[in-house]
Amino acid sequence: MRRKIVAGNWKMNGSKDLVNSLVGQIRSELASLDNGVETVIIPPALYVGDVLSQAGAALTVGIQNVSCWDSGAYTGEISAVMARDAGCSVALVGHSERRQLFGETDEQVAVKVGKALASGLDAVICVGETLEEREAGKAEEVVSAQIRKAVADVSNGQWSQVVVAYEPVWAIGTGKTATADDAQAMHAAIRGVLKELGAPAEEITLLYGGSVKADNAAALFGQPDIDGGLIGGASLKAEDFVGICRAMP
Ligand code: PEP
Repeated sequence: MRRKIVAGNWKMNGSKDLVNSLVGQIRSELASLDNGVETVIIPPALYVGDVLSQAGAALTVGIQNVSCWDSGAYTGEISAVMARDAGCSVALVGHSERRQLFGETDEQVAVKVGKALASGLDAVICVGETLEEREAGKAEEVVSAQIRKAVADVSNGQWSQVVVAYEPVWAIGTGKTATADDAQAMHAAIRGVLKELGAPAEEITLLYGGSVKADNAAALFGQPDIDGGLIGGASLKAEDFVGICRAMP
């Protein structure tokens, strides 16, 4: 039985006021939900402690990025060990905004996956093709290569900490969502790659991300290989985020 996860990536949005208004509301609205979904809040790192203090046992908290290093003279960086120490359970790794805006490479993504797993965090490894790559018929090839590189050093005992989020770049923050069929096809392909690599593919949670909203989540989550969602914009409003959590079958 795979874990079902809905994770809200706040990106560089939020404030103490937002934490105070949003987290408590999400927490209380989800209290009666019994569909087994694990709900994760991933705020800007400065607010991890504030979110944790409001989250209670029902919500887990994550970090949006970790450093390639554990400690030392790397101004501005935050290590996976520190994120774990601060109470995070999850790290996003290789989000397309990090890859595209900050030049993060597949090699760095692999190092960060290693750091996250070694520190005890679950790594949500983000992969996805650009519109150009999709239109050129290369979507599966691109995503498959990203996964192979990202998990190259994952050891047998670490697979239970690995989650993969398929986020087509053209669907992030654009209002365009992959159809449930297209998303399912890619998720099945991803599971196939993980299987080829010797991972316990049937046990690995695969999330879809890219303009997920309360009104399209049920169709996506109803697909056999889609185990939840990574949510950007819609994670900043309690009603939208809770609606997505409720859409999990
Ligand atoms: C994301 O940032 O991971 C994301 C999926 O964003 P949005 O839901 O806004 O498309």
